[in-house]
Amino acid sequence: MMKAPLFNRLALIGVGLIGSSIARAARVQNAAGSIVATARSAATRRRVAELGIADQVVETNAAAVEGADLVILCIPVGACGAVAKEIAPHLKPGAVVSDVGSVKGSIVRDMSPHLPKGVNFVPAHPVAGTEYSGPDAGFAELFVNRWCILTPPKETDPKAVEKVAAFWKLLGANVETMDADHHDLVLAITSHLPHLIAYTIVGTADELSEVTKSEVLQFSAGGFRDFTRIAASDPTMWRDVFLANKDAVLEMLGRFNEDISALTKAIRKGDGKALFEHFTRTRAIRKGIVQMGQDSATPDFGRPHPDLAPLPKPYAVDEGRS
Ligand code: NAP
Repeated sequence: MMKAPLFNRLALIGVGLIGSSIARAARVQNAAGSIVATARSAATRRRVAELGIADQVVETNAAAVEGADLVILCIPVGACGAVAKEIAPHLKPGAVVSDVGSVKGSIVRDMSPHLPKGVNFVPAHPVAGTEYSGPDAGFAELFVNRWCILTPPKETDPKAVEKVAAFWKLLGANVETMDADHHDLVLAITSHLPHLIAYTIVGTADELSEVTKSEVLQFSAGGFRDFTRIAASDPTMWRDVFLANKDAVLEMLGRFNEDISALTKAIRKGDGKALFEHFTRTRAIRKGIVQMGQDSATPDFGRPHPDLAPLPKPYAVDEGRS
């Protein structure tokens, strides 16, 4: 027999990659009795209705949260404060409010002051995503074996935290709880800085396009194309991440600049030992990520290598040769 849903009514505000993946996964896992969704634009609301991933699509944020037990904001970080203010008078007493923002300190500061007493706030960050956006980009398996980090403020009822943790576990995620500022420091190095580096390197290559002609794209398999995937991530989302996590990103950027100076010096001095030792250490880190089940061990990220015509024989075989 199927278990009773964790929440009677789930409201999703914003139905892009993350919101639509939550809707799909929650439906598959029977995590909510009913799912009501809304989005800023009529076009997205229409598309969500066509996809049939929510039980109800409503026009306003206020209508979405009416009677909801769990409300999740799946919108850019910079928009969460204003939406919290807008929905506050319409929240059901005892409701749990959450979000999925990639930065947590600013979310807690922007949303908490607006939420009424009796409503529990459990900020969350599912560390899972792709470079695609919008309601069509989502899929139910997005969170499977990925981390979801919860950063509840001190005053939040632990029972609400447990319930949100159970929700994410049902969607397939591993759940960890930590302080919001600590989250921002960890994510600055594991996610925000890599995105900044990708945005930089792809931009630099583009500026050099006059010199390199189309060769950057032609020879992109040399490593560049992996940066282009990350640099294709949503501009609104990432603008907000860097504005909201300014201090932690600047701290990590300072350390990164010191390390890149050290490698620059090793190259200039021809210090092969320093380079070799550094690269050996980083190779072991990749191995560790694979061993922890956070990525596949398949070469080249498991990209399919299509069937190619057989290589021509290097020379005609002389059948009569002994
Ligand atoms: P998305 O696919 O671009 O969807 C964003 C949604 O937010 C859309 O429904 C959009 O509505 C709505 N929206 C945009 N600006 C808004 C505003 N100013 N006010 C109200 N609604 C607004 O984005 P996403 O990738 O799902 O990201 C959503 C959140 O998840 C972000 O906070 C991001 O930090 C976090 N996150 C993203 C990833 C990732 O890899 N993408 C991973 C983890 C967490 P319209 O379609 O109507 O414009």
